[in-house]
Amino acid sequence: MPDCIFCKIVKGDIPAAKVYEGSKFIAFLDISPANKGHVLIIPKEHYERLEEMPNPDGKEFGELQVKIAKAVMKATNAEGFNLLLNNGKAAGQEVMHAHMHIQPRFGTDDFHYKWTHKKYEEGEMKQFQEKIRKFI
Ligand SMILES: [Zn+2]
Repeated sequence: MPDCIFCKIVKGDIPAAKVYEGSKFIAFLDISPANKGHVLIIPKEHYERLEEMPNPDGKEFGELQVKIAKAVMKATNAEGFNLLLNNGKAAGQEVMHAHMHIQPRFGTDDFHYKWTHKKYEEGEMKQFQEKIRKFI
């Protein structure tokens, strides 16, 4: 995609602090990190959304998250990490090229994931369970 900033990073038209490059994925430091050492993993191919990614790429993507998260933990001495993928505009996706955040976390850091906890009505949880199971 010609106007995609991440495709430009893949091509080398825009510099990035790469920490990993394989045949299908690259990982690099987010320029506006939640904490220092915050890494983005992206497919080299332009997929806007996670569910567009075919297997076996999806499998490799998952394995790479574990591998890079371990390296980020060791490199930053983080106490934990968040994996975050904003998938679609409704989910807060800003760069429309699928990307997974690995955000090292420290007990003393200053950001929090917050959401309001909804409640299921009587019997509703079972409906959602069945609807989701049907599509798996
Ligand atoms: Zn792209």
